[in-house]
Amino acid sequence: MGAFLRLTEDLARAQAAEADRRLAAGDGGPLTGIPVAIKDVLCVEGVETTAGSRILAGFRPPYDATAVARLRQAGAVFVGMTNCDEFAMGSSTENSGYQLTRNPHDPGRVPGGSSGGSAAAVAAGEVVAALGTDTGGSIRQPAALCGVVGVKPTYGRVSRYGLIAFASSLDQVGPFARGVRDAAIVLQAIAGFDPKDATSADRPVDLLAELEAGVEGLRLGVPHQYVEVQGMEPGVKAAVDRALLELEGAGAELVEVSLPHTDYGLAAYYIIAPAECSSNLARYDSVRFGYRAEDADTLLDTYLRTRRQGFGPEVRRRIMLGTYALSAGYYDAYYLKAQKVRTLIADDFARAFQRCDAIVSATSPTVAFPIGSRTQDPLAMYLCDVLTLGANLAGLPGVSVPCGTSQGLPVGLQVLAPQWADAMALRVARAYEVVRGG
Ligand code: GLN
Repeated sequence: MGAFLRLTEDLARAQAAEADRRLAAGDGGPLTGIPVAIKDVLCVEGVETTAGSRILAGFRPPYDATAVARLRQAGAVFVGMTNCDEFAMGSSTENSGYQLTRNPHDPGRVPGGSSGGSAAAVAAGEVVAALGTDTGGSIRQPAALCGVVGVKPTYGRVSRYGLIAFASSLDQVGPFARGVRDAAIVLQAIAGFDPKDATSADRPVDLLAELEAGVEGLRLGVPHQYVEVQGMEPGVKAAVDRALLELEGAGAELVEVSLPHTDYGLAAYYIIAPAECSSNLARYDSVRFGYRAEDADTLLDTYLRTRRQGFGPEVRRRIMLGTYALSAGYYDAYYLKAQKVRTLIADDFARAFQRCDAIVSATSPTVAFPIGSRTQDPLAMYLCDVLTLGANLAGLPGVSVPCGTSQGLPVGLQVLAPQWADAMALRVARAYEVVRGG
């Protein structure tokens, strides 16, 4: 299936032995001895970490990312590093510089992306939970396509220290698991203030207290723009409509809300994310770490050849798009305008949340698509994110929870909540699981 880029067998054995000791001594927690996988963008001390890119081949970080360190502290057992789109840029994991990952529900189809390896590993039962990152949907979309739970926390909830950055105003680290409770337990362990990340918030994190509180009396917003979105498959729409009725049956009140700038979100995201990536990826110059082209004879030539050989086509496309959007003469027309659209989208959500406690929609307009079917058309690939990237632009928490099937393949239900209301998004997702008998 190709979920893992590399296994960390020795580390796993050592951690498992330590977990045995802790459990025997009666001092284990909920994650002690639990096998987990780490997306290849989060630094694990001494373990090759490449962001799915050839340019980082051989890079062994000298430290753990904070999210990784906290799982290690909690006694989790690291099974390996999971495949992803190069630098998390993509929606199918086909942009990995190393290998394909197949969807466990149909090996001819993609697992989604960019955290496709983490989603597939959990869906196949290879691990109990996994870490991913979500910049425009990269946790929620693969979770939906693989039939597992994925959580994108509020921006600032989880430290990004030790995360290989893609777009720093959008990136968040979050968990995959088979059920909402497991995902909430992992998120509880990794969330919270970290002095090493100035964007991490110093606010209390309590994700489990209200988890079983149900949806009785809650107002769930249904934005018609998310229902009528381009490319929505009838089977996905039907599954989500059924879920809405089931939530209503459990006591929720469905209210129509409007997110009028939805159509501009994709364009704004694909200016802002490439702009930030062009800046973040400037550091890969081959001088201090990673791959270096052998055949260069000047310093400039070393940079040029290393970056041309080390980065794949999608990453090069994004760097060029971003550099263009930020260049003098174009900055106002593209980057500045995209930032203004971003504010309008955040305002849309703020207005909608005056009328509801959470927003419910499909996570992805389609089920998992066949391998190779969108690789020649970047715009078709970008459309995968149309329902997820609004939450990133606005900094909101979102959960994808399995909600039946279409064409025999998993469909995901997305639950979005106001900033810092991660517990509300998890509570609604959990209530839906209970309605379905989970
Ligand atoms: N698919 C989106 C992109 O390619 C989102 C990726 C992500 O969330 N990391 O940018």
